[in-house]
Amino acid sequence: MNFYILTLFPEMVSQAMHTSIIGKAVERGLLHIEAINIRDYTRDKHMKTDDYPYGGGAGMVMQAQPVYDAYCAVKERIGYTPRTVYLTPQGPTFTQNMAKEMAIEKNMVFLCGHYEGVDERVLEEIVTDYVSIGDYVLTGGELPAMVMVDAISRMVPGVLTNETSGISESFEGGLLEYPQYTRPFQWNQKEAPGVLLSGDHQKIEEWRREQSILRTQKYRPDLLKEADLTIKEKALYRISDL
Ligand code: SAM
Repeated sequence: MNFYILTLFPEMVSQAMHTSIIGKAVERGLLHIEAINIRDYTRDKHMKTDDYPYGGGAGMVMQAQPVYDAYCAVKERIGYTPRTVYLTPQGPTFTQNMAKEMAIEKNMVFLCGHYEGVDERVLEEIVTDYVSIGDYVLTGGELPAMVMVDAISRMVPGVLTNETSGISESFEGGLLEYPQYTRPFQWNQKEAPGVLLSGDHQKIEEWRREQSILRTQKYRPDLLKEADLTIKEKALYRISDL
């Protein structure tokens, strides 16, 4: 999968996206993550890419032309109109389901805003999806783009070497993941749950399922409405369909 990140700060993206699991997937040729410097496409002799907002007000606005030309250069390389995300606090919030759904794309473009944002006219021309990573305002779209690229990449087949580790995670089936433990068995006078060392796989699965439901009930009860629960589980944990 190819990710093209349009940004005024390419070094932020380049450094962060080439480490750990994502970095290995890049090395293995499963992912291509490229930061495109919007400034390289300015036609201004002072390399300017922003200007004062029409109508007044604080801050600067990214100009349409450099963004559009950077986008067109990517589009020409790809050979078709790519799915293009504008990172913005005004979009619907990014979810694991969106990550899964986007992971089937071959190419994706991400536009990172900065300052007060981007001239609306270019957004109307190129953006297919408006996405927020949460109800707070950041200084730029680079961190949100990296959050999205990371989450989408994990859903690309082969990126997680242990294929099952993406299947039992939080949000699968609408539940949070069960708690995890590793050696030593006893730490800080606390023992790991004995059932996990029992070797009885059915018991372990039952315990994990129960923990998942209890955790979701405690921390994210809002998820339970859409969770895949049996009638028996709903009765046992007193979860109503409303
Ligand atoms: N003036 C804009 C508004 O009120 O909607 C906010 C601009 S923000 C300071 C600068 C850029 O950061 C945005 O253009 C966007 O690309 C990015 N950004 C900030 N918060 C974000 C969020 N929660 N999710 C996604 N992108 C965000």
